[in-house]
Amino acid sequence: MTKISIDLKKAELVPNDLIIGIDLGTTNSLVAVCKGDNRNPVCLDGASGVIVPSVVYLGTEQMLVGNAAKEFLVHEPERTIYSVKRLLGRSYKDLRDRNAYFGYRIVEDEQGEHVRIESQGTYYSPVELSAAILSEIKLRAEKALGTSIRKAVITVPAYFDDLQRQATREAGKLAGLDVMRILNEPTAASLAYGLGQSPAQNRMIAVYDFGGGTFDVSILRLEGGVFEVLATRGDTWLGGDDIDRAIVDFWLQLMPEAAQHMKKKAHMQQLRLFAEEAKIMLSDGTAKHYLREDQLDGVSLKLSLSNTDLEQLCTPILDKTINIASQALHDAGIKTEQIHEVVLVGGSTRLNLVKDKVRQFFSGVHVNDSLNPDEVVALGAAVEADILAGNRRDILLLDVTPLSLGIETLGGLMDTLIPRNSRIPSSASRQYTTSVDGQVNMEISVFQGERELCAQNRKLASFQLKGIPAMPAGLPKIEVRFLVDADGILKVGARELRSGIAQEISVHYQKDLNDKAVEDMLLDSLNNAKSDIETRLMIEAQTEARQLCYTAKRFLEKNHQLLTPEEHHKTLELCGELETLCSEEDKDAILASMERLNDYTRPFAERLMDEAVGAALKGKKL
Ligand code: ADP
Ligand code: MG
Repeated sequence: MTKISIDLKKAELVPNDLIIGIDLGTTNSLVAVCKGDNRNPVCLDGASGVIVPSVVYLGTEQMLVGNAAKEFLVHEPERTIYSVKRLLGRSYKDLRDRNAYFGYRIVEDEQGEHVRIESQGTYYSPVELSAAILSEIKLRAEKALGTSIRKAVITVPAYFDDLQRQATREAGKLAGLDVMRILNEPTAASLAYGLGQSPAQNRMIAVYDFGGGTFDVSILRLEGGVFEVLATRGDTWLGGDDIDRAIVDFWLQLMPEAAQHMKKKAHMQQLRLFAEEAKIMLSDGTAKHYLREDQLDGVSLKLSLSNTDLEQLCTPILDKTINIASQALHDAGIKTEQIHEVVLVGGSTRLNLVKDKVRQFFSGVHVNDSLNPDEVVALGAAVEADILAGNRRDILLLDVTPLSLGIETLGGLMDTLIPRNSRIPSSASRQYTTSVDGQVNMEISVFQGERELCAQNRKLASFQLKGIPAMPAGLPKIEVRFLVDADGILKVGARELRSGIAQEISVHYQKDLNDKAVEDMLLDSLNNAKSDIETRLMIEAQTEARQLCYTAKRFLEKNHQLLTPEEHHKTLELCGELETLCSEEDKDAILASMERLNDYTRPFAERLMDEAVGAALKGKKL
């Protein structure tokens, strides 16, 4: 079993492993750790409690994170980034329909794989912004524990896909953390309640997570100390915010004159805060009525909300969550009476109305609600961290991969398919495509290691997938599959999904690397994390830019009849400018130039669509 820990300041091994557990939430983030002889998890405190709002303010001088950043939400929305978790590992296309939700600027770019945020001429990736939140959390933990911290378990929703998980890992690395495991939030919550801590337990668990902006339900099967997600369902745009909004709408209806004056964004934001205050005051059922008289820009407000009002406003929202829960059970193929435990997670489950609804639906099932629902995910992450640190002798540690396994992608970047510390056996697959029109061969090179550039990792093997049918760039779907078995054999397969052509090889991936080799590799990767990731972001921007020039020029060749000579000329000029920038090292300049080219050529693509539609109509016989 490989298990090492390094003091990075002194660059030497340290005997005691300290791993923190982090809940990196959409609305709020928290950190916890297990302490003392009884190894109980506790959340670590800052000046204003345990919660760090997941908000980053992009100031001219410096970035602010948490409560300090939240204050800028009302007056400087374009610089105040919230909900960045929604952007992690996503492309612009994934988010296009939700653009209005974000108060800041997301760069519109149909081609790129990575969504970016622009503020004051600087481009930020979601990984960098999440890393800012994680750095703040790391700092908090270091202050609270009085020691430097290098290792963490970070939680993600069960529905996060491979790319979203990988982006979360990257963010951790950029914050200077060795991410020991990416843990599912529902699994973490169950661990916090002590489920899964003895191998003999066999249980079916439903985890109901109602947070600020998202809702999900997961059905877990726990067997022999291992959690398996049987089903997960949710609505990523349903949360406590919707209750706040319903309360605001209710108030505005009751005071039509005042509503006329409430159009400003800042006013609405203030009203929303009052609504949240009302909701929280009425949540546990002890208070029956919220009343507030206030002045907002000279308009006097009388805001009142009774607990029956709140119940009426919540009912349709809660019914939706219950519907989703029953779909999840259906997906898992089980009935409510087969569930042994329900676990409540998320700030919104503080509402008695929510607890009642859940109890009613899972009638007769034990509902775990004794832990603080905002904290439960972080607490569970700390339990997992403690298990990984080997501090719980009663729990068997499974064999893991000592270093990450992946393939080389455009620009010499390492794309990890099986991260370090994955349980063995393990498998993963991911889709790739071609970058040049008519490309018929693809080289697959397999690497082992933690660095962002393949040149610094160990090459294990390479092979060619031959005979891909000639298609335009981006159309072939090539699935690469990794399978790691317990004997140190990695099988790598590649298949073009449209034609079915396939190729497979087996390689030894060095399961029992000696500790020194692993140590050196880890030390290198952490010491170089910041510059490595900057290099990656740079290469990604350059690659995207080259791809964009390639497509734009192809478009000119094929569709010159759609463009005026000036347009043709201008497009080439913009391409030339971008190509020149690609050989320099200014990422923001490349990204800005890409935006200009994209903005300029977007109408041409629309013209092409119109022409295609026109042609289709002409051919239609009536
Ligand atoms: P996330 O997992 O999305 O980061 P949280 O679990 O921290 O979010 O939940 C935040 C939500 O919980 C907010 O909508 C907040 O208004 C709500 N909330 C917090 N405390 C209470 C309470 N006492 N009653 C009702 N809702 C609450
Ligand atoms: Mg949460």
